[in-house]
Amino acid sequence: MRNPHAGQPFTTSDEEIADALLDVSIPTLLLSLVHMAGDPSLIRGALKPAGLFLNEVQGYMSEDDKAAARAIALEVIVDYRARGCPEPEPIDGELLKEMMEWLVCDPVPDEYVPMLLEEMELDGRDLRAASTSERSARDEFPVVVIGCGESGLLAGIRLKEAGLPFTIVEKNAGPGGTWYQNTYPGARVDVGNHFYCYSFEPTDEWTHFFAEQPELQAYFQRVMDKYEVGSHVLWQTEVTDLTWHDDTATWTVRTRGADGSTSSLEARAVISAVGQLDRPHLPAIEGRDQFSGSFFHSAEWDHAVDLRGRRVAMIGAGASGFQIAPAIAEDVGHLTVFQRTAQWMFPNPNYHEPVGAGIRWALRHLPFYGRWYRFLLFWPGCDKGLAAARVDPDYPDQSRAVSEINEVTRMMFTEWITSQVGDDPELAAKVVPDYPATGKRTLQDNGSWLRTLTRENVELVRTPIDHVDADGIVTSDGVHHPAEVIVFATGFQATEMLWPMTITGRGGADLRVRWGQRPVAYLGITVPDYPNFFCMYGPGTNLASGGSLIFHSECQMRYISQCLDHLIAGGHRYMEPRRDVTDDWVRRSQEEMRTMVWSQPSIEHSFYKNADGDVYSLSPWRLVDYWTWTRRPDPGDFTFG
Ligand code: NAP
Repeated sequence: MRNPHAGQPFTTSDEEIADALLDVSIPTLLLSLVHMAGDPSLIRGALKPAGLFLNEVQGYMSEDDKAAARAIALEVIVDYRARGCPEPEPIDGELLKEMMEWLVCDPVPDEYVPMLLEEMELDGRDLRAASTSERSARDEFPVVVIGCGESGLLAGIRLKEAGLPFTIVEKNAGPGGTWYQNTYPGARVDVGNHFYCYSFEPTDEWTHFFAEQPELQAYFQRVMDKYEVGSHVLWQTEVTDLTWHDDTATWTVRTRGADGSTSSLEARAVISAVGQLDRPHLPAIEGRDQFSGSFFHSAEWDHAVDLRGRRVAMIGAGASGFQIAPAIAEDVGHLTVFQRTAQWMFPNPNYHEPVGAGIRWALRHLPFYGRWYRFLLFWPGCDKGLAAARVDPDYPDQSRAVSEINEVTRMMFTEWITSQVGDDPELAAKVVPDYPATGKRTLQDNGSWLRTLTRENVELVRTPIDHVDADGIVTSDGVHHPAEVIVFATGFQATEMLWPMTITGRGGADLRVRWGQRPVAYLGITVPDYPNFFCMYGPGTNLASGGSLIFHSECQMRYISQCLDHLIAGGHRYMEPRRDVTDDWVRRSQEEMRTMVWSQPSIEHSFYKNADGDVYSLSPWRLVDYWTWTRRPDPGDFTFG
């Protein structure tokens, strides 16, 4: 069988190929040529990228060099077509490493190579697929998965591969989780889509580099259909509580349907895949319920409310509000944006750009073009951002910048922001943040946010809100801002992890009471006293400095699959992490977290922080470390029963 990443054979004409090459990433193309021609000298000459920066996929090559590369490419591709587009010969590891380093203009340390090769699947093998060393007794091991977003769907795919009976319980009527629920205008992903998709399920169909919500939701629907997971899902059904029984070594999972009817499922293991940013946070602003117009949360957008020509107020401007305002400003009569904290942002010219037809052709037909493109997107966010987020304890005045590199980042971001609003000093003073760069979730933009704020019909208010009245919002300076509609883009109850489910483990231990504002799990996955209970995107696994949650989910689900395999193969009733191992993990994670910019006390408001200002939601670890630690569970970390 042909390697699925080797490209589909084609008969495209010379002219059409030449046209397609005008669109593509030239450094990525040159690596595909090495596969097609079996000739590494194609990247050992003068044509090479000059550097790599986030979202810069042409490696700063000159126009002349790109033209020269296209001419060579046309010859190689025409010859490859004439030979019937054969599957390229495998390339050895040394050359693959040379190709990696050539593409990203950076040494790629040896410890990263196996992780990257696994992510790229150049040999067509999905090394994260579920292990099935022991096939017997699987029927007696039913698993319940809570949630059918990107991680719950992945869990379903892997459980199916493992031959385990499973049920996914999903509160929505379709798959996608966040990408099902957040239908607000302008909703789009901000991790490049050719990386933000399952490693084993790439697609050449993305119409945008950063797809909008409907396209993302459709992707998850398509994947679900392909892997025939849908028939395992109880839709519009919510898990209310789950209870562990020591005597039977089972979980009872209680559910509530859309009509209010309750039911229960018995499971040997439960996988929570509910995400961290699911339950809307509606701040208790005085007078909210006296408002006579419509109001709704960004994640529960009321499409029945016509905003055209209306006076709209938007409270909150984080990642969601930042996308909403530019999408609605043209249509509304007036938009008042209430922003408590200014946001750091950096330029991404591709942010709203469509994927050209030539790129789609290359992804479909040129061997491993999509795989190398994935790596190109992955690498800049692979641990470099984490290093830059580290606090230098000797750096002076850390309220403004936490290290020299953080100060350079602050200057670069400030320059980009002020270059757009420099002729409006009043606005400039409002939009430049006063805390260290990257300390909250950094936003990406192509200029649309600041352009929106300079519109005649848009006002940015930084004065704190005092209360809401029947027809508007009153700020602490006594000014009344009239509004007919209020959009709450105020984020999620991020510190209330797994809320509002009640999870009762061994001895009646209530997980919400156990955790309080300090949710912790060993590797973010397992919790002492909660046997055979596994989290995906659990405590300490959100990513603030790069990577993709899909990458993390794939690490977590491989680990969970192997735990299940171990349970079944060993004939164990249950497994749970050792308390000392978990305590040590938490201590190390917290120590590490306190050295990161996200913990800086000068950051007053951040959904990363709990009420005490501590960060339990994020991972402070390098992706390569997390990948290594989750590659294979160590039985010594667990107690088995
Ligand atoms: P968010 O980042 O938590 O932003 C919430 C906004 O509401 C902030 O401006 C916050 O101000 C404000 N706010 C909250 N409570 C308030 C109060 N009591 N009074 C006044 N203002 C208040 O939430 P989000 O924008 O929904 O984004 C959440 C996360 O979802 C993102 O960080 C990201 O992980 C994800 N997301 C991703 C994308 C994407 O991929 N493109 C898009 C949307 C969301 P403060 O800043 O002062 O707290």
